[in-house]
Amino acid sequence: MKTDRTTVKVFHRCGGCGKKQEFVNSGRFRVNANGNSVDVWLIYRCKKCKHSWNLTIFERTKPKKIPRELYELFLDNDEETAYQYGNNVDFLKKNNAELR
Ligand SMILES: [Zn+2]
Repeated sequence: MKTDRTTVKVFHRCGGCGKKQEFVNSGRFRVNANGNSVDVWLIYRCKKCKHSWNLTIFERTKPKKIPRELYELFLDNDEETAYQYGNNVDFLKKNNAELR
C-alpha cells in the first residue's frame, strides 16, 4: 500500500533550540495506559536538534472509547496512521501547531 507522506509543514517553538523551528512527523506514537485512562500522542521532532514534541491525539480517555483497531495501530506505530494525523489540519491546530 502506498503511504501518503505528510505534506503539511509544521512549526512550533522548540524547547531545545529556544526558538520557532520546523518539526517533522516521526511516524511514531506514544501510548500511556494508566488504569482507566489512556493518553496517546504523535511524536514530532525538531528538524534541527531532534527535540521531541508530543501532539495529543487522546487525552485521559477511557480505553473503551478508543476503537480497538485504532489502538492497535498506535501500539504498532503504524506509519499510515501517523501520516494521516500529520495531514489532519484540525488535529494540528488543536495542538497549537503553526502551519505553512
Ligand atoms: Zn530544536
